[in-house]
Amino acid sequence: KKIIHEKDIPFYKLQKRVIFGRNQMIDPTNVLHYIAEDGYKGLEKALFEMEPQQIIQEIKGAGLRGRGGGGFPTGIKWASCAKHDGDRYVICNADEGDPGAYMDRSLLEGNPHSIIEGMLIAAVAMQSHNGFVYVRHEYPLAVKNLNIALKSAREIGLLGKNILGSGFDFDIKVSRGGGSFVCGESTALMASLEGKPGRPRAKYVHTVEKGFRESPSSLNNVETYANVPHIINNGAEWYASMGTEGSKGTKIFSLVGNVVNTGLVEVPMGTNLRTIIYDIGGGIPKKKKFKAVQSGGPSGGCIPEQFLDVPVDFDELVKIGSMMGSGGMIVMDQDTCMVDVARYFLDFLKEESCGQCNPCREGIKQMLDVLTRICAGHGKEGDIELLEELGAMVQKFSLCGLGTSSPNPVLTTLMYFRHEYEAHIKDKKCPAGVCKPLFHY
Ligand code: SF4
Repeated sequence: KKIIHEKDIPFYKLQKRVIFGRNQMIDPTNVLHYIAEDGYKGLEKALFEMEPQQIIQEIKGAGLRGRGGGGFPTGIKWASCAKHDGDRYVICNADEGDPGAYMDRSLLEGNPHSIIEGMLIAAVAMQSHNGFVYVRHEYPLAVKNLNIALKSAREIGLLGKNILGSGFDFDIKVSRGGGSFVCGESTALMASLEGKPGRPRAKYVHTVEKGFRESPSSLNNVETYANVPHIINNGAEWYASMGTEGSKGTKIFSLVGNVVNTGLVEVPMGTNLRTIIYDIGGGIPKKKKFKAVQSGGPSGGCIPEQFLDVPVDFDELVKIGSMMGSGGMIVMDQDTCMVDVARYFLDFLKEESCGQCNPCREGIKQMLDVLTRICAGHGKEGDIELLEELGAMVQKFSLCGLGTSSPNPVLTTLMYFRHEYEAHIKDKKCPAGVCKPLFHY
């Protein structure tokens, strides 16, 4: 039988699977498999060969930025948390909620020890003794594998008291999210961890100073922690040799929608959209035309064909009105109505808004009403301007990131596909033939 190697399969051969590489080598429920693949070597180094400050310097030097979407430099966050006195907490955000995104789920299900090791190294760096993983409620296998991994790590002295005989104590608890998208926001997540309603608060005081239980708390997402052992093992210079000037390392993308090969794709930061969608993803099925890609989840933006050669990183997509976010990529073909897409995302965000501040609660609802009207063939002159005005208000005055970024799908589709809005409003036509028959809402 002919053996097919990954390097012969287009979907895999152009990827650089630094973070995902070990997923296929190990049984996630067997700690010895992870150890056999150099697992926990980074922890050993952090405990016995490095000072906490050195670890932080290494993470800073690597240029690691938060993979949850914000892109905040991880080393700076750890340094800020470490300088505040009190019981410091290391928290992992596994409340992955973007439609079509499942990077964190795959890491937790397939290699939970890499997350535990990343959190342990963070704990040593910040001298924290308590950690939490806040996992999305709908991820039962991730919770199961994580709990098995935590138990076996404890049994062999990798968690708990006097880790590996070093005198350092740290343990991790698992908390399941309540199924609310906004609980992915740092302050809402910490409120939920405390057993309170998961609502964001104004960040006059940052969570690195007063977070969980009013104590210094460092929150990073699953993929961020999975990067940490690699940096400690291989060094900041090695890590910083991958990626772009401002975004180092690799990034996992969840490639879904109208694309031949859907799945999780890990590539160096700065790989362009064309490579991801066409060379790795195999292009658009049925020889249809590419229309747009929504990157960055429901609060990201729709990117049209003219930007397919833009390198994907934290900074470049922002320049064209979108964002990389946590790595969701929804590809859309010629049969997609961009007004309907904007309506879909606003509908999602309206449901997920916690409702505590007016601009977000009322603004999203008003925008959704206008979009629904347009899709139903009842658009009026002035609706486009009204959407722009409402979008600017919601962006400016909402309390948290869900609100401030919620108009993005509307504003980017207006920026790049304005003619589709005009066709709906003036000609009472849906160019993609989706809002047909009109008046179906
Ligand atoms: Fe809640 Fe929206 Fe205000 Fe955020 S912006 S606090 S989600 S109402």
